[in-house]
Amino acid sequence: MTDVVVIGSGPNGLVAACVLAKAGLDVLVLEAKMEPGGGVRTAENTLPGFKHDVGAGFFPFGRHSPAFVDLDLESMGLKWRHAPIDSAHPARDGTCGVLARDVARTVELLGEDGPAWEKIARWYESAADKLLPALLETFPPITRGLAIGPATIAKLASVALSSGRGFAERTFRTEAARRMIPALALHTDVGPDDPLGAIVGFMLAVTGTHGGFQVPEGGAGMITRALIKRLRESGGHVHVGARVEFVITEGSRAVAVRTSTGEEIRASHAIVADTAAPTLFLELCEQRALPSTVLDAMRKFRRGFGTFKADWALSGPVPWKAEAAREAAVVHTGENLDDLARFTREVRDGRLPEDPYLVIGQQSLLDPTRAPIGKQTLYAYSRVPSDLEGGYGNEVRERFLDRMEQRIEELAPGFRDRILARVAFAPPDLEAMNENLLGGDLGGGTADITNQLFLRPMFPYFRYRTPIRGLYLGSSYAHPGAGVHGMCGYNAAKAVLADIG
Ligand SMILES: Cc1cc2nc3c(=O)[nH]c(=O)nc-3n(C[C@H](O)[C@H](O)[C@H](O)COP(=O)(O)OP(=O)(O)OC[C@H]3O[C@@H](n4cnc5c(N)ncnc54)[C@H](O)[C@@H]3O)c2cc1C
Repeated sequence: MTDVVVIGSGPNGLVAACVLAKAGLDVLVLEAKMEPGGGVRTAENTLPGFKHDVGAGFFPFGRHSPAFVDLDLESMGLKWRHAPIDSAHPARDGTCGVLARDVARTVELLGEDGPAWEKIARWYESAADKLLPALLETFPPITRGLAIGPATIAKLASVALSSGRGFAERTFRTEAARRMIPALALHTDVGPDDPLGAIVGFMLAVTGTHGGFQVPEGGAGMITRALIKRLRESGGHVHVGARVEFVITEGSRAVAVRTSTGEEIRASHAIVADTAAPTLFLELCEQRALPSTVLDAMRKFRRGFGTFKADWALSGPVPWKAEAAREAAVVHTGENLDDLARFTREVRDGRLPEDPYLVIGQQSLLDPTRAPIGKQTLYAYSRVPSDLEGGYGNEVRERFLDRMEQRIEELAPGFRDRILARVAFAPPDLEAMNENLLGGDLGGGTADITNQLFLRPMFPYFRYRTPIRGLYLGSSYAHPGAGVHGMCGYNAAKAVLADIG
């Protein structure tokens, strides 16, 4: 018997556990896998000594998320590292869009589009302190929302009403600058021509340059390690290799969980699920305990794109033609808006993209502890259909990995000669590693407007409580969604504390 069971040890589960344990509750986290952390882990996937982030690689919210500020992970040994440039957007013609924490440097490198970016960056600098907590806290953020002020709300609304292409063409003159924000939006499943799509890339651009695409020294797993240290300090525990297979209800209240080993663990106060929403409601809960509207909504739940991820061990840094890319934490491929739109169409049509858009992480450039001296790691992912006709067999994987390498090679001739080892993860591999990644979707469901704010993951259950009393959803499937900020777990823990008084 414990006060609270948390199902899953991703960043949201661990943050929820830390907050509840800090409040004096007895908390037990049950993790299905043998290693905690979910999407925030590091592994020597290729060769000994090369540390690769398994999921998340870059943490713009690391220093600014209210959850992480509250838990003071730096005092648990977490150290952040930055690159001079946060995001580079090179194209085959040699041009390169650039975003950096250093606004003056960004302005200089963006040339004629520098002043347009400076206006955005200065606006966000002045708004961030109030805006970020309002966007991340439980929706609707009434008090904080009022404090933001009408000018900031009007600015956000003007972005939100545009597509990525509309916003980029209206704001910037060069193709290099125009491709930046729509390329960032493709971290999710929002394409350049999607109505109301601009806000996704815009927020990634401003948060990515305000907090920076920073990395933890030693690997993403150091965040998990710091969270567990904080949890233990407050008396909480994590059990690994303990998959929760069923949430037991008595009356209309969740009272216990049953694990894969048949163990039944009672929770006197609450059960917080850091799981996929459809899995929780359709597989882990007793169907009779749920309204049919919830079951219907979950059966129709819209996922984001699948993900295809690769890691390389390299004998040296990637020889990018564009100078800026050699100093960047993250490099995005995408020639122009039409190229990004073509890529989006191919994924939506269920085809493997011919010339894939890539998010490329150069963690070891910022953090030399990730690779043996003189060597480098490289990480990249593309978005792909979750299901492919014929499946993701070895031949398909190798062919797509070759396409990813070809795209990098064209921007960095000589890249292939530096490869010492490589490994690829198709959507089924990612889902096998972490069952929250349904079909390889890294976003906890689509990031489009149909799954945001009071619709995430469904109305009216967008405030962490579920139809079953004592059961809370605290994963990235809840507001404010994907990204390592811990705020879904943080807000869910606050709901638990409010309910138990
Ligand atoms: C390839 C990739 C790249 C990414 N890049 C970034 C990035 O650069 N920056 C960023 O901010 N975000 C990134 N993300 C997204 C980020 O990883 C997620 O948004 C975040 O990890 C979600 O946290 P979570 O706690 O909700 O769930 P997860 O991190 O997914 O953790 C869920 C945990 O719950 C466990 N679990 C699930 N069901 C059960 C059960 N029934 N019983 C017991 N345990 C269970 C799982 O095993 C897992 O450990 C990336 C994700 C991927 C996959």
